[in-house]
Amino acid sequence: MSDARRIPGSPIDVNIRYTHSLGGLSPYFEGLIAGRAVASTCVACGRTWFPPRLGCCSRAGPARWKTLAGTGRIAAGTNGGGTLPFGGGSAGEGLALVALDGADNLALGWVDGLGDVPPVDARVRLVATESNPPHPAQAARYVPE
Ligand SMILES: [Zn+2]
Repeated sequence: MSDARRIPGSPIDVNIRYTHSLGGLSPYFEGLIAGRAVASTCVACGRTWFPPRLGCCSRAGPARWKTLAGTGRIAAGTNGGGTLPFGGGSAGEGLALVALDGADNLALGWVDGLGDVPPVDARVRLVATESNPPHPAQAARYVPE
């Protein structure tokens, strides 16, 4: 770009800190940090969601909280060498979609102890996070069962 098109001015750094409410999903996020798999179960169809859904079927009303065992199997794995939203740097060895026992969906999380690409069907369990992640969603961490 030529200097003739530049708008004169000075760069300014702005930092804003605010408390991001976890809202209705607070039980799920608090569970993740503690290593507990807090799911939701739909009162109409009986499906269980981890990560939870606050509503499932259109007229079912609010879902009920249900704590799962926290164990499951890798459904898909990939190299997780990237960084996460909200800052905090690299978060784990491998990244995987995990099918928790008792859940009808898949959950994304970091996997330690199974290499860069967690193998499909490996058994894992959710563990408490030892760090203080920038956002509790980043506390979804699994190790071999
Ligand atoms: Zn439902």
